[in-house]
Amino acid sequence: MTAPVAGGPGDVQAYALRSPDLRHLETAVTGCRACPRLVAWREQVAREKRRAYADETYWGRPIPGWGADRPTVLVVGLAPAAHGGNRTGRIFTGDRSGDWLFASLHRVGLAVLPTSTHAGDGQALVGTRMVAAVRCAPPDNKPTPVERDTCAPWLDRELELVLPGLRVAVALGAFAWQALLTALARQGLPVPRPRPRFGHAAEVAVGPLTVLGSFHPSQQNTFTGRLTAPMLDQVLGRAAHLGSGGSTL
Ligand code: SF4
Repeated sequence: MTAPVAGGPGDVQAYALRSPDLRHLETAVTGCRACPRLVAWREQVAREKRRAYADETYWGRPIPGWGADRPTVLVVGLAPAAHGGNRTGRIFTGDRSGDWLFASLHRVGLAVLPTSTHAGDGQALVGTRMVAAVRCAPPDNKPTPVERDTCAPWLDRELELVLPGLRVAVALGAFAWQALLTALARQGLPVPRPRPRFGHAAEVAVGPLTVLGSFHPSQQNTFTGRLTAPMLDQVLGRAAHLGSGGSTL
């Protein structure tokens, strides 16, 4: 299947809605060009490259969700890293945040390997799927509200497709927390009002789902000790427990 080119918000909505399953959705996402600033940035980074990766061909396109087709655990991040997912084509793969995340997922039994380096490396998630709230790498890791909203239909459709078997969703960082709760409300789920506040190890029941919050494993957090490996294991271990049918609080 060739990816259709979504040239604006209306196309994103239409192509997301029209994707009958995850395979079609993954393909449709990769053709998206709806956010001019992000398209320019992702492609500029892919052309100019970081010196350490000068011999590699960067992906330079939107990053689809990745992992199990029928997950019980969904991990939601902010957006791909310029030289991580935007280089390798796989979410959280090839950057320091991903190194932390995959090591922890492996420790708690949600990933078969402790590292994720490139497509075809043997890595696989166990009952788990990962998605980004915004599918293209943004400058300074900061999408605008318009870009977030333009990209939302991709997240909405992915959520809709995985919700039937999902037990727990983990938001990495405050941006993902807000995007996830907003998307769950759009799915018609009873998100509490006022909106629960984000925090590390925050836990909220949203209908049949448990939503967990974790500080994002960004270098800003891991270098400063704001997020430690045991802290990340605590939240992802809780997700693994709930995902396998363990009891809620
Ligand atoms: S951020 Fe989302 S909506 Fe914008 S171009 Fe990328 S995939 Fe398309």
